[in-house]
Formats: sequence, C-alpha cells, structure tokens
Amino acid sequence: MTVIVVSNRVARTKSDEPVAGGLAAALIPMVKDSGAIWVGSSGQTAESEQNGSFAKIETLGTGALATIDMPARHYRGYYEGFANSALWPALHSRSDLIHVTADDYASYREVNAFMAQALMRFTGPTAVFWIQDYHFLPLGEEMRRLKVGRPIGFFLHTPWADRRTMTAIPHHAELVRAMLSYDLIGFQTDEDRQNFEDYLQLELGIAVVDGTVASAARLTHLATFPIGIDVDEFTARATKASTRPEVSRLRASLQGAKLVLGVDRLDYSKGLCGRLRAFDRLLETEPQLKRNVSLLQIAVPTRGNIRAYRELKAELSALVGEVNGRHGEVDWIPIRYLNKSFSQLTLAGFYRTAHVGLVTPLHDGMNLVAKEYVAAQNPFDPGVLVLSSFAGAAKELDAALLVNPNDADNVARQIAAALRMSLEERRERWHAMVDRLRAHSVQNWFADFLRALGDTRRAPARLAASRSANSPVVVDFVNRAAQRH
Ligand code: UDP
Repeated sequence: MTVIVVSNRVARTKSDEPVAGGLAAALIPMVKDSGAIWVGSSGQTAESEQNGSFAKIETLGTGALATIDMPARHYRGYYEGFANSALWPALHSRSDLIHVTADDYASYREVNAFMAQALMRFTGPTAVFWIQDYHFLPLGEEMRRLKVGRPIGFFLHTPWADRRTMTAIPHHAELVRAMLSYDLIGFQTDEDRQNFEDYLQLELGIAVVDGTVASAARLTHLATFPIGIDVDEFTARATKASTRPEVSRLRASLQGAKLVLGVDRLDYSKGLCGRLRAFDRLLETEPQLKRNVSLLQIAVPTRGNIRAYRELKAELSALVGEVNGRHGEVDWIPIRYLNKSFSQLTLAGFYRTAHVGLVTPLHDGMNLVAKEYVAAQNPFDPGVLVLSSFAGAAKELDAALLVNPNDADNVARQIAAALRMSLEERRERWHAMVDRLRAHSVQNWFADFLRALGDTRRAPARLAASRSANSPVVVDFVNRAAQRH
C-alpha cells in the first residue's frame, strides 16, 4: 500500500523551525516513519497551470514530501476567499464572518480540480489517498471524475458546525454531496460526526445507517478519529529544552512568580479577547496575585490578508495595552504579549515552565497545544491545564479544569483555582490526562484511519453479515449498497 497524504500546506522540514499549525505538527512524524508521500502546496504560485509539475520532491525520513506551485490566478480566491472566508468561519460557528464572492467559489473548485490532476502522478494499483481538511472538501469528487478507483479517505481537522450554521455557506449542498465521493470521512469528535449526519439527513434527505451512507457509486463511512500527539517526543523535548536560552531567560525573569501560558495562532476561534478579559478579571478580583502571576500569550499572526484577522490583531493589541495600563507597575507588567512563533522544542520548555496552561478557544477541532502542554509537564510537579469545553481535546482531557470561554468570571475563578491547587490534586489530574494521551497517540490516529480506510472496501459483506438479525430495511440498504460497490 502506498499512502498519499494531501494537505494544503506541508510543513517545513527543519526540526528547529516553528510548524504551521496542528495539522502539520501531527503529520511530520507520521510521514517520516510510515513511508507515506505527503503532497501539498509549495507556498508559491505559478502563472502557467502545468498540471503535475511538482516544484520539489524530497525525502522525509522513510517518506517523501512533494510540493507543487498552485495556480496564481486562483490561489487567493481559493485560500483567503472560499476556504478561509466562508468555510473556516462557518465550521467554527462564525457564519457572521462569511464574506465571499462567486469568483472565490469558482477558484476553490478550480484549485481542487488542479490538485486532482496533479495527483494523477501518484495513482497506481497500490495507492491509497488520504485528503486532509476543509481546503479540499470536493477533491475526492474531482479525482473520481478522473477515474481514480482507489480508496480515498478524508479527515476534517476542524469542527463540523450544526446544520443550520453550515447552510450559511454558499453551495453547501453541492460540497457535501461531493464529499460522498470519499470512502471514509473522519471527524475529530462524535459531536462533529453527528452534526454531519444531521446535515445529510435533515438538509439533503440522505439516510445514514450505522454511520454509513450509500450513494449511487459507493458506500461512504463516517467515523471519529481524535487526533493525538507523540507524548514521549514532547516529554523528551521538554527535558531537553530547559537549557535553551529563551527558556532560561523566561524562568529567570519570573523571579518566583507563577506563569500562565497561552499559545495560539492569532485566530478569532481561539477566544483570545475573552482570555485577556478573564485575566483582567482575575487581577481585579484577586489583587494579591499582582506580581505573583504573569500571563505569557504567544499569538502567532496568521491569514493577515483577511480583514477579520487584521481587526482581531488590532483589538488584541488594544486590550493588552488596556489591561497592562490598568494593573501594571513601574517594575511589573501583567501580560507579556508576543506576535511571533517558536520551535516546538522551545515551546516544550515554555510549557514546562508554566504553572497553568490556558487554552480557551470558542470552538476548536481538537487543539494540540492543550495536549502538548500536558505531555511536557514534570510528572513530579505538574502544572494545571485550564481548558475550554468547546475544544475537541476536552472530550479526552476531562481531568483538566474545564471552562466556558464566554464567561470571564468562570475562567478567572478556574485560573485562581489552578494557581492554588495542591500537588496531590495536580498529580492526580495530570496522570489521568497523560494516560488518555498515551492511549490516543498520533501514531494510533494515523494507523486507525488507514486501517478503517482499507476496511471500507471489505465492509459491504462484513456489514451485511453482522446485521443479518437487523431490520429488513437495514439489510436491504446494505445489500443494495454492496451490489453497487
Ligand atoms: N506551534 C509552533 N510554534 C508556535 C505556535 C504553535 O510550533 O509558535 C505549533 C504547536 O506546537 C501546535 C500547533 O502549532 O502543534 C498548533 O496546533 P493547534 O491544534 O493547537 O491549533 P491550530 O493552529 O491547528 O488551529
């Protein structure tokens, strides 16, 4: 089996550089160890749309990285337009931020068709395709148009919002129908999968039976695969990072005060304004904490060509100034706010230094920072994770202090509780969380998805056999689907 993983951007391969986000962070080690081919945009565009002309193919561990220049005419409409100004806001329940044109949708479809054509280079009798994320919802359909008969799976790294919110996306029905070209669609949580099923059943009138949809051409299986991290790798990094200059400087600068840490892309889904207001509230309600606690917020700029992101950046800067102006002293400022990124090695050192990991997204597919924070802790003296219940990670990390990110008082109270928590309780909660992380590692995520994708081609017979005692409707559904398959 030759696994071809496809995502919009591939990560830079130097281990000491920051990665582009959770998707890239998860995929680098998997491609390195599995021998997969990872295909994505080179980050450059080209005027001529010569299909299949890969800018670069390089080895990555036992696997390979193949990058391609994207069509210049369509890249903006595809990326800043439809993907990040229609799909991203809706998937994160912010349909009020949808702002796209008909041309953006046309470009999104063009880029998907272009990528399908480029992938023809990798089709072969053993190829298995695994498409990543909302940039490529209809890529499977484009590949089927080019007669690709091999298994194609899709994994969504973001949430799938409730069905009414999803109907705010222009052409939503066409896109969801196109997704039924996949053999397997994976979601981060059961809630996301259920929202997708509700959309199919209630908006499109398409039946879902035991997580399976039968369309004219195939069965599409829907399942949940929460993405994980490599726990041992992060633990090792956290130990190694203690000698890094930034980490030592951070430690020394605290002068005995406790550190609360936030690490996010500068995105409206991350709840950054609410987080700063909650910290403000904490200093107001517990003034004795002044000088004894600092918030370090790393907010990595992202998608700066989109207005909503520029406005958020300005709002955050103003808010930081306001809170620091209100509570700061000549020799102390409450919030250290950085608009730059760090390598995962340095981050691991920051995580271990922080007494509280503060992760308060309004909506998040998973949130790997929450998991990395837990993995990086010193087992003998672990910090406390304060986590939004609207992050996918909250389903597994329910031993964190779960908060409602919209309620500043609630978040402030939980930060205070985290700062006061006994060593015994901190250890107990940390053990419960790290055990979960080990059980759902990124290695398991990768293997489970590919196993399930392989199984989809064996599924009809198996499904029919296992449901022989089921209702005639179900048996008929499975049999009809098996005949079509
Ligand atoms: N990250 C990084 N350097 C930074 C900030 C973040 O390498 O300065 C990484 C972080 O370690 C994590 C990923 O970016 O693996 C962020 O993933 P997450 O799921 O939390 O959020 P996303 O950005 O994918 O929405």
